[in-house]
Amino acid sequence: MAERSGLLTVDLDAIAANWTALHARHTEAGGTDLGAAVKADAYGLGAKQVSAALAAAGCRHFFVAHVEEGVAVRTALGPGPMVVVLNGFRPGEDENYDLTPVLNTPGDLAAWSSTGRDVLLHIDTGMARLGLSPRDVDALADDPSLLQGVKLRYVMTHLACADTPADPLNVQQAARFAAARARLPAAPASFANSAGLFLGHDFASDLGRPGCALYGLNPIAERPNPMRPTVRLAAPVLQVRDIPAGAPVGYGATWVASRPSRIATVAVGYADGYLRSLSGRALGRHNWQEVPLVGRVSMDLTTFDVTDHPAITPGSMIELIGPGNSPDDVAARAGTIGYEVLTALGSRYRRSYVTAA
Ligand SMILES: *Cc1c(COP(=O)(O)O)cnc(C)c1O
Repeated sequence: MAERSGLLTVDLDAIAANWTALHARHTEAGGTDLGAAVKADAYGLGAKQVSAALAAAGCRHFFVAHVEEGVAVRTALGPGPMVVVLNGFRPGEDENYDLTPVLNTPGDLAAWSSTGRDVLLHIDTGMARLGLSPRDVDALADDPSLLQGVKLRYVMTHLACADTPADPLNVQQAARFAAARARLPAAPASFANSAGLFLGHDFASDLGRPGCALYGLNPIAERPNPMRPTVRLAAPVLQVRDIPAGAPVGYGATWVASRPSRIATVAVGYADGYLRSLSGRALGRHNWQEVPLVGRVSMDLTTFDVTDHPAITPGSMIELIGPGNSPDDVAARAGTIGYEVLTALGSRYRRSYVTAA
């Protein structure tokens, strides 16, 4: 049966291989364990399938943003691995799913004290987003009993500029993190995100937390991408029409044919996370040849100029994301980052998970 909607293919072996490669890199830099950020449904690729594949590769620490995401990961993995909720939660909110909170505020410390639970403690070293402020760290250093009755599994911080290796904030954050840890009760450290794993020894820790690089995004944009691609998105041509020179295409008539043209209408739109800012700017591919997107991306449909591609007919698949058209490439054309392209991937695609086994 011909496809009527987009087909999203996720290569779980490639994700596992990326984790293994990052783990080796982290160990070489002096780090120990490596976890995985599987928040936002594993960056849009499917937390259940991705977490299971990473667990099979040896990953024992999984990071999500919300309790609900943690419940999904715990349900997929069963007991054992640590499932950490970065945004925190209050005692009881994880019911019996055994999630591990990140304590971000003095209020979190008070709420969890004497619960006997495993916790992570987040220190803000220069991002001003989540975590204890320098003043909160002073208070805790003066009175370590604020951590009474919890098991401090890791002290963590998060890098603001790791994807720009030369940014001076990176070494400042490393120094502030080391200074804060020296004043707090001894505990293992959790430091680098994907890009931070590429910054060398000072950024290695007891537990790295990569996300984007697992999914094939380039951790350091100014360097060649060392990660394996993991995602392919293709969508079917529903109709092909011939239009004369001077005829407009799509909402707003933003594109007008400069020659007699063949226009293919493809079943993908911004409701599928194929961003509207790609209007008039993206390239699809068919048999490795580039096919230009013309006119506006609409909710459910997008148009491509296939005048130079006579082999494209109704039922042909246009590849929108793939090895030759990476999420980072698509993001650059949309004026955003690969993270947003992946996490926007819609729920209407038929999803296919591939593994060698
Ligand atoms: C999302 C996130 C990560 C992973 O970041 P990547 O840049 O995707 O590797 C790590 N730590 C925290 C606190 C995060 O929010």
